[in-house]
Amino acid sequence: MTTTPEAAGPAAGASQLLKGIGKIDGDGFKDTTRKGEVVFVYAQPLPEPYAPGQYPRVGNTGYSASTQQYDFAPATVDEAREHIEARLAAAADELARAKKLTNDLGKIIHDMTVAQQAAWIEWQHGKGADAAMTWIHNGLAGPGFIPDEDEPYGKEAQAWYDANRADPFPTCFCGRPSNSLWMGKGFCSSAHYEQHRAEVEAQKKEG
Ligand SMILES: [Zn+2]
Repeated sequence: MTTTPEAAGPAAGASQLLKGIGKIDGDGFKDTTRKGEVVFVYAQPLPEPYAPGQYPRVGNTGYSASTQQYDFAPATVDEAREHIEARLAAAADELARAKKLTNDLGKIIHDMTVAQQAAWIEWQHGKGADAAMTWIHNGLAGPGFIPDEDEPYGKEAQAWYDANRADPFPTCFCGRPSNSLWMGKGFCSSAHYEQHRAEVEAQKKEG
């Protein structure tokens, strides 16, 4: 096998990776390079429109590292292996954390649903509606979630829900939280929905 010393690729026996050592401190925003920082890139430079001397980073190939930021040298097989194994281990840890979080959240939602079912059973088959509300009250009081009546809409059930749900509709033109949606606009009541529709119809006739 012939070798061509001037070729940019890795030498025979080297890994396909380059190890870069940061030689500048970037602005920390567009350029996160730090002096002495170690990065690993694939040994094939990115094609145009990338400027010359830009290499794809291992694990994030759309994010280039350049010869202006780092001094590159071929990574040994051991260095490449250690880097790849560390990245995979970090990804596996993150996945395990995400799985545990999903599982924990699922249990919380499950238990809240079961408590609401118990309340419904109390209402329909047990001691009635007031006793059923004890299930709801206890579920809120434990974690400190009894709504404060001084909070906005703290005395209005529908508006409280509309204002505080995870993804509220756009606010009604009157400034109150919405519970219906039409053509991308939210409405607090059927009266305000009807009013808006009437205005739109009138504008159509004029136009
Ligand atoms: Zn309104």
